[in-house]
Amino acid sequence: MKITDIKTMRLRATIPTEGQVFSRSGVRSSRSTTLLQVETDEGITGLGSCSGNGELIEVIVARVLKPLLIGMDPAQIDDVWDKAYVRGGHKEFGTRGVGVVALSGIDVALWDILGKVRGVPLYQLLGGKCRDRVPVYATALYPEEPSKVAKRARGFAEQGFHGVKIKVGFDLDQDIRIVRAVRRELGKDFIVMTDANQGYTLDVGLQAAAAFADCGVFWLEEPLFVEDIAGHAELRERGKVPIAVGENLHMCYAFENFMVRGAVDYLQPDVARAGGITEIRKIAATAAEHGVPISFHTWGDGVALAASVHLSAAINECIVMELDYTYNPLREELLREPLRLVNGCLIPPDKPGLGVELNPEALQRFAFFGSEEITVRQDTLRAV
Ligand SMILES: [Mg+2]
Repeated sequence: MKITDIKTMRLRATIPTEGQVFSRSGVRSSRSTTLLQVETDEGITGLGSCSGNGELIEVIVARVLKPLLIGMDPAQIDDVWDKAYVRGGHKEFGTRGVGVVALSGIDVALWDILGKVRGVPLYQLLGGKCRDRVPVYATALYPEEPSKVAKRARGFAEQGFHGVKIKVGFDLDQDIRIVRAVRRELGKDFIVMTDANQGYTLDVGLQAAAAFADCGVFWLEEPLFVEDIAGHAELRERGKVPIAVGENLHMCYAFENFMVRGAVDYLQPDVARAGGITEIRKIAATAAEHGVPISFHTWGDGVALAASVHLSAAINECIVMELDYTYNPLREELLREPLRLVNGCLIPPDKPGLGVELNPEALQRFAFFGSEEITVRQDTLRAV
């Protein structure tokens, strides 16, 4: 079997005003993602997803990766990595960043093809299921009046989610008021995470960690700038709250650096960004050596979500998985058969490969050919 083509599909959905949320990058008014399809001479195709700037991904695929990979056997995944990254690609697009994002999508598509060729679901290729259902927590609590956030958190608990995550990293006093209100509402045992999206300095992060520890917060995610490993290590040592990191890291060695330097308690690799399934397996093996649990980050679309569910079902180190529960039709409407959410758990599909098919009508509706939005972190706090 040979690879005959690699196609990218940029998608964007506008978020209606009532579904827009405020984050460190400002008010989000659209959701976007880039899907990737690998085609073969035997008619079998594979799907992948890339989480990054779609225009850059398109160029890297068209100008670097596609010319390198056309004619290769899609089942020889290590050979593809060798040519596309080790011996070829990294000299063009670097050892991490958007080139790795593009390769992540290709890698997932190759595993999808392999599953289809062998007639088994992806989790089976990964050694079989450790669990039939993957417990998820809801990412959907953004800053607003604390009692309103608490009420929304109660709604997620009642829907059966295994935890809720609160966006913090804005104004420390407000962050603490919201976290306390949610904890009061849900009682002491419900899992409550916090995510600062790199919004704190070390000093403010230490104050936040102390307050969140008093509230029994399960983890503080991305407290500092992602490259500040020393800062994360200090915060982890002096703060009393576990640290989660990983959605903005690429390739296993970046995760290993955090673990070796004692800077992380929970790893959050994103399959559409960190290096696909091949690299996630290396990350999981390294995490096992260091005794660090994994909780997959996923954001953009139903294809990435499906890959994450297979990984979470098959990898022993995985604990609860993230489910972004904000408005996103690219998650809800892109697949012919959406993933099943039952009592706060996602069920891995049983069909070969990823086990998902795209809905052509949705693909057409969300196709996007314009310029990508570049978001910049807002350091001026908005009163809420
Ligand atoms: Mg996050």
